[in-house]
Amino acid sequence: MLKIGCHLSASKGYLAMGKQAAEIGANTFQFFTRNPRGGTAKALDPEDIAAFRAFAEEHGFFPILAHAPYTLNACAATEHLRTFARETMADDLYRLSHIPGSMYNFHPGSHVQQGPEAGIEYISEMLNAILKPEQPTTVLLETMAGKGSEVGRSFEELRAILDNVEQQQVMGVCLDTCHVSDAGYDVINRLDDVLEEFDRVIGLGRLRAIHLNDSMNPPGSHKDRHQKIGQGALGLEAIERIINHPALRNLPFYLETPNDVAGYAKEIALLKGLSREAE
Ligand code: FE
Ligand code: FE
Ligand code: ZN
Repeated sequence: MLKIGCHLSASKGYLAMGKQAAEIGANTFQFFTRNPRGGTAKALDPEDIAAFRAFAEEHGFFPILAHAPYTLNACAATEHLRTFARETMADDLYRLSHIPGSMYNFHPGSHVQQGPEAGIEYISEMLNAILKPEQPTTVLLETMAGKGSEVGRSFEELRAILDNVEQQQVMGVCLDTCHVSDAGYDVINRLDDVLEEFDRVIGLGRLRAIHLNDSMNPPGSHKDRHQKIGQGALGLEAIERIINHPALRNLPFYLETPNDVAGYAKEIALLKGLSREAE
């Protein structure tokens, strides 16, 4: 069965997100661990978490995907910002240890003129300072569009980070379909080739989640502007091939398209209809 959800607001807690996901026909969801621009996270609410865990179990929601704030930049140019990134991720992972079946996705970072090699070094240093062998939450590097000085614009850059991480077994990758297209990988006409390349460079075993987005811009534009499903450069046929591809169809898909909750419900219904495993 297609595992599909969308990004939801975490402001009312875990159980509220679970109920909203169920209402819109989703069987998983993504949320920000705290305000996307950073700031402090809400206090952990054990009652809400217990109620959510029961609800999620019953509805088969797992895995769910937590997204780090955008301000988290492990390879920022100033030590102050790198410390903020490390402390934020450590705190997020501590909180998520209360949510079994959760994964944690983050943007590797922006090297801001220090060069990708320095960026890769800082990012893996942060991961090595935080990750523990008993870590219950899988940490995912997101494939990036290559806007500005983003690290993670190529499969090779992600592989270089992974190679430097000591706790390999807790690491994975989240492939964002808008980002990889914007980065220049032709998922529209050459999906098989792109996935073969991913397998050769990173290994498909590392691929744990898909951010399913159309793009406002043509392949290779390095822009990162998400579009509604079927209304952008990727188009509905490419997206249908993506959700049904044998290497991808058993992964969880998360929509981050420009939609309100009603819009997400429509996209989820549309994608379920296109899923050939639906029968
Ligand atoms: Fe993201
Ligand atoms: Fe994304
Ligand atoms: Zn994006």
